[in-house]
Amino acid sequence: MSVTEETIHLEQNYVVQTYARPPFVLARGEGMTLYDTAGRAYKDWVAGIAVNALGYGDAGIAQAIQDALNSGIIHLSNLYHSAPHARLAKHLVEKSFADRVFFCNSGTEANEGAIKFARRTAYNQGAAHKVQLVTFSDAFHGRTLGSLSLTPKEKYQKPFHPLLPHVLVGEYNSVASAERLITEDTCAVILEPIQGEGGIHPATPEFLQAVRALCDQHGAVLIFDEVQCGMGRTGTLWAHEAAGVTPDIMTIAKPLAAGLPIGAILTTQHIADQLHVGDHGTTFGGGLLVTSVAQHVLERVSQPEFLAHVREVGAYLQERLAELNSPLVKEVRGRGLMVGLELTEPVDRFVKAGYQYGLLLVNAGTHVIRLVPPLIAEKHDVDDLVDKLAQMLASA
Ligand SMILES: *Cc1c(COP(=O)(O)O)cnc(C)c1O
Repeated sequence: MSVTEETIHLEQNYVVQTYARPPFVLARGEGMTLYDTAGRAYKDWVAGIAVNALGYGDAGIAQAIQDALNSGIIHLSNLYHSAPHARLAKHLVEKSFADRVFFCNSGTEANEGAIKFARRTAYNQGAAHKVQLVTFSDAFHGRTLGSLSLTPKEKYQKPFHPLLPHVLVGEYNSVASAERLITEDTCAVILEPIQGEGGIHPATPEFLQAVRALCDQHGAVLIFDEVQCGMGRTGTLWAHEAAGVTPDIMTIAKPLAAGLPIGAILTTQHIADQLHVGDHGTTFGGGLLVTSVAQHVLERVSQPEFLAHVREVGAYLQERLAELNSPLVKEVRGRGLMVGLELTEPVDRFVKAGYQYGLLLVNAGTHVIRLVPPLIAEKHDVDDLVDKLAQMLASA
């Protein structure tokens, strides 16, 4: 049996079947390209779902991992001080609206923590009525029960009821809807400045400004989930910068350590002041190895030239996609290297067809091809993608 056959056989017989994986096994990567066990190359427009910001085989990442390992320590727990942990917190604060950081291990965990921070804030005010959580249509905040409660998608939620109570679902980008739902009873409002999973929908600046004003008016905590759109993906370090609106809490994760598991909750001093020793915790969160690597990633990704590259290649991507001359194309939208190509029909068969063309693609919702490549993608990668998409759409 080949490694390919063996791997697929083992996956199908021993792994819980919550994913439908394609029939090849990826084994090696370099730059924008992954290779399967048969040696076939795939240009990667998925990047481990917006995670592998610096692509594959990056020498700087390898060095950061090696340097961290030289200490001989992989894990310490949060009981003790750790220099990389403290340093990364300082750098995240310096490069954002935030005053304080709490580290965890994933996006969903960051959102769970954000909900607890908001709850603690309302509790300290003695505001027993302040329990409502407001989320918006097509949001995705994660798979654990708190975050899942804020992810209003029936397919994800229905088999797992009962979920958190007091969750209200507004219409994304509708100021009127936000005005109706955000009141004195609102504990927190959560939204993605650009929705990922739900279909690459950017929030309008007016919507973000209105939600910010409503949260201020009613003393609600505003949480921006930048797990997917943050860390340079949209051509600014944080996606919300484009609208000039800042949250009280921002959650980040996916690309923060370019592939190692990490999440972070960035918050204002006021909210940090609501939390005391023992209020929240994590065994693994903010470990030495992951925070060392994240520090390296943050330094690279926040360079003005790096962000300018994302904006330039991202603009070129949208421009080239807009030239696709096919009746199947409905809309191209997004910002930086977070772009959605909406088709008039479900995209699964194009994701599958992509494999034959040596392309890794992923959907966002049913009708959108989500393009979230490594941020090191170049214009010639865009040309390669658009040529192949043109062929795929023409032969559909
Ligand atoms: C992926 C994602 C999450 C969940 O992150 P995990 O690390 O998978 O738990 C939360 N919010 C957004 C916007 C995401 O894209």
